[in-house]
Amino acid sequence: MTIANYAVFGHPISHSLSPRIHAAFGKQAGIALNYVAIDAPTDTFAAVLARFADAGGRGANVTLPLKQEAFRLSASASDFAQRAGAVNTLTRLDAGWRGDNTDGAGLIRDLTGRHGLDLRERRTLLLGAGGAARAAAHALLDAGIGELVIVNRSPERADALADAIGLPKRVHTRYWNDLANLGSFDLVVNATSAGVARETLHLPFALVAPRALCYDLSYGAAAFGFIAWARAAGAGKALDGLGLLVEQAAESFSIWHGTRPETDPVHDLLRAELPLLATD
Ligand code: NDP
Repeated sequence: MTIANYAVFGHPISHSLSPRIHAAFGKQAGIALNYVAIDAPTDTFAAVLARFADAGGRGANVTLPLKQEAFRLSASASDFAQRAGAVNTLTRLDAGWRGDNTDGAGLIRDLTGRHGLDLRERRTLLLGAGGAARAAAHALLDAGIGELVIVNRSPERADALADAIGLPKRVHTRYWNDLANLGSFDLVVNATSAGVARETLHLPFALVAPRALCYDLSYGAAAFGFIAWARAAGAGKALDGLGLLVEQAAESFSIWHGTRPETDPVHDLLRAELPLLATD
């Protein structure tokens, strides 16, 4: 029997691209690894993860809706994972699971490395306050954005995130109903899962400053609505989270295997299958 020593856990998980991405990275690096997708709802995740470890599991990626639970199950965690309160990369050590969060680094690598964008001083709107938004907020602030305004459907989660960040002069929260009164932004980040649920956000065009960058963390058809809105609003650039997906995977791969793969060939292959808009 082949032991799956690496896996991505989530719910749902059947459409995850992570097994393909890690297989391509392994091939590049000449590392034979067995990486599978394992479906685990939140209430059974701890038990499923323990069985995976008992069967020889050495590393795991964790996605929606398990990142906060993965943080809870980590015996130790990186500084960034502790700040984000969310873990997307688990590494098996003698003392238990070590938690990392590579989403923040992946986002910044995609924006500044792949797309050559300067994030400094950008007035930024972050939509959402879940696990991915938490990582994005910390990473963007570290990268030097200007004011950060966090807006979440449930305002208490936005407030909790702003409180956890603890930069009251730089980070503010507003209500979703106030979106029309917030002025314009140089960077608009959609970290909601609305697109994945095929729900429409109904955002005012006035949020988008001339030449602004709009970025949806989701990718494929889930990002079509936001990308179409951003283009219609006159954004200078509208991107989805495919680059983030590949970059966060490369960060995880390098934690587990000590070597960072080339991401462009894998990104370009997937982009050919997943255009930014169905019409591209
Ligand atoms: P969570 O479930 O933790 O958070 C979901 C967020 O979306 C919450 O803020 C929630 O608001 C908000 N939301 C959901 N539906 C709506 C709606 N109809 N209108 C407004 N807000 C809504 O998910 P994650 O933070 O883990 O993930 C968010 C998105 O980012 C997902 O689409 C995920 O696929 C994507 N992602 C992509 C990555 C990549 O590699 N490209 C990496 C990480 C995430 P509320 O609090 O009110 O419920």
